[in-house]
Amino acid sequence: MNVLIVYAHPEPKSFNGALKDLAVAALTAEGHQVQVSDLYAMNFKAAADRDDFMMPENPDFFKYQLEQGHASRTNSFSQDIKEEQEKLLWADFVIFQFPLWWYSVPAILKGWFDRVFASGFVYGQGIGRYDQGGLKGRKAMVSTTTGSPRQAYTPYGMDGDIHEKILYHIHHGMLYFAGFEPVEPFIAWTPARDEEARNRYLDEYKKRLQNLSAIPSIPYHPTAHYDEHHQLKIEYR
Ligand SMILES: Cc1cc2nc3c(=O)[nH]c(=O)nc-3n(C[C@H](O)[C@H](O)[C@H](O)COP(=O)(O)OP(=O)(O)OC[C@H]3O[C@@H](n4cnc5c(N)ncnc54)[C@H](O)[C@@H]3O)c2cc1C
Repeated sequence: MNVLIVYAHPEPKSFNGALKDLAVAALTAEGHQVQVSDLYAMNFKAAADRDDFMMPENPDFFKYQLEQGHASRTNSFSQDIKEEQEKLLWADFVIFQFPLWWYSVPAILKGWFDRVFASGFVYGQGIGRYDQGGLKGRKAMVSTTTGSPRQAYTPYGMDGDIHEKILYHIHHGMLYFAGFEPVEPFIAWTPARDEEARNRYLDEYKKRLQNLSAIPSIPYHPTAHYDEHHQLKIEYR
């Protein structure tokens, strides 16, 4: 498979850096082709703005989504966006490696989503969303680390259920929206605290990567299960 790792951590010697390095080595050993977008090393621009478009359609009133649609039609995104979109089209499987920051992705990765998951590329301009999104046919996996312990992210935990409350906006709102089939996330809880646990996580992650296609997908409803008001049809509730 062609595997893209989108990696967002400012310190190469971090545990996130170790998980990314391990993934490159393990996947290559399995015969996969691997590319890495190391967003901090690339100094990837996080802010979505006018500079993202080489031929703006309306310079007098800047509307980001409309300019994205125009740039998709005229192939006029800035070079850094084009390169990331090409990597996504190349990939069969995308891994997002990042520390959980404010219950979400670090700003540099949020900016990557804002700018690269463009209207006219992953949705809009005749492209559907969710199971009909522009990146359909591809899988994606979140690999993240936390500061709070696992118990804090259970349904009655202080931080809220990791699947339903914390990662849902990434899995459903970004990855599935864009057409990906998201698979179960890999989560290393509080890696800063415990050396033994870190070694266990590295072993577990390696085993998981040795059988990428066996990782279960997260089941979400296809768009056909919703009515014209975007409500889940009664028979699927
Ligand atoms: C802005 C911000 C917001 C945050 N928000 C949240 C939040 O909402 N929720 C939450 O839970 N947490 C939050 N945190 C905490 C954050 O999620 C954790 O600090 C982070 O996930 C830890 O991962 P790391 O890669 O940065 O660990 P590091 O601290 O870089 O690494 C942990 C340890 O692993 C060691 N290590 C590195 N490589 C290896 C290796 N190969 N083998 C063994 N050990 C190794 C390192 O030396 C280090 O001792 C936040 C932090 C910040 C800065």
